[in-house]
Amino acid sequence: MTALSPTAHFHTIRHPKFSLSDRPFIVIWEVTRACDLACAHCRAEAIPSRNPAELTTAEGRSLIDQVAAFGRPSPILILTGGDPLQRPDLRELVAYASSRHIPVALSPSATPRLTSERLRELHAAGVKAISLSVDGASAPVHDAFRGIAGVYERTLRAWDAALECGLKVQVNTTAARLNLWDLPAIARMVLERGALTWSVFFLVPVGRGTALAQLSAEECENVMNFVYDVGRAMPAKTTEGHHYKRVVVQRTVLQRLGVAPEGVLKLGRLYGELNARLGRVPARDTTRRTPMDVNAGRGFVFVSHTGDVHPSGFLPIPAGNLRTIGLGEIYRSSRLFNQLRDPALLRGRCGRCEFAPVCGGSRSRAYAMTGDVLEEDPLCAYAPLSFPFQNEVAQLLRDEASAYAG
Ligand code: SF4
Repeated sequence: MTALSPTAHFHTIRHPKFSLSDRPFIVIWEVTRACDLACAHCRAEAIPSRNPAELTTAEGRSLIDQVAAFGRPSPILILTGGDPLQRPDLRELVAYASSRHIPVALSPSATPRLTSERLRELHAAGVKAISLSVDGASAPVHDAFRGIAGVYERTLRAWDAALECGLKVQVNTTAARLNLWDLPAIARMVLERGALTWSVFFLVPVGRGTALAQLSAEECENVMNFVYDVGRAMPAKTTEGHHYKRVVVQRTVLQRLGVAPEGVLKLGRLYGELNARLGRVPARDTTRRTPMDVNAGRGFVFVSHTGDVHPSGFLPIPAGNLRTIGLGEIYRSSRLFNQLRDPALLRGRCGRCEFAPVCGGSRSRAYAMTGDVLEEDPLCAYAPLSFPFQNEVAQLLRDEASAYAG
């Protein structure tokens, strides 16, 4: 085996500078389920009007206090929905979180409520970043996903308006059969218009997402390797694609050894075709977005519109409700969250996998597709210990761990 250069060190996986057993890195609050859109992959199965049982403004402020109580650096608070713009107290909640030194991001829906005035107002109140969904590079593909005509054009206008008023923009794209061949054009669009990050979401069959045709495990490998290549030109990452962290480690090892990925990783025509459609892009390895070592219940916590606390928005098992128990207590002490933080409990291939300490697979997808939250991730094609450069992987993971420890 060829030894990796000890000087060729950069972080392949980011680790928070605190214990993920003690506090989360991200708190996602579904402020409402109300939304005017009917997206094909909606996790929340959004509804037209607000549920009277939603957390009230006072309960929302209490939740914000509990997020602040995790300490500094504060977890990032992401306000999602439904459409968070349906809450009349949204500006007040943002301003309150901001006054508690909590970084706030927003996931609005592209409806007529999403105006440049509203974006400016929310930015002034403390929103640092928004995410926008772009699932097609043209109106027909995107609007087919969203269920309503005109959403594509509105999304592009909101994207421009957000950048103009100084907000950071994350572009989210669901990878599914419907838009597979649009991925390169969407990547190019993100590169040319500008965004903080492009995040490719790998379907979890929950909510309305159960009706969408998802990719096979082999296709996911090809798409993830394509996302890795896109990452040379702009910050690109995955959502519910935890095995992307395994791909990043594999590609880093191969790159350092000067080995082409196609043969070793069994990448097929899809990988070649996606890259061919992307064409030449300026390679700037300094822009690569290093994936964060977080997963459902381990760095992540999701609060539903009625106060149920879940390890992820895609994992419909509540571990408690804020109306009866505190967020910190649920996060630190619930059996479900503690199980999810213990890689020794993983089953199937994830339980035997050498990449489990940095990957662990999507617990949400394992639950959605097998009914067992600790089972293997069915959308990962990797056979544990099959990557031929095991010594190099072990050394890289050791180097990473000691760099963070030191
Ligand atoms: S088998 Fe599981 S732990 Fe291993 S890379 Fe795949 S999803 Fe990750």
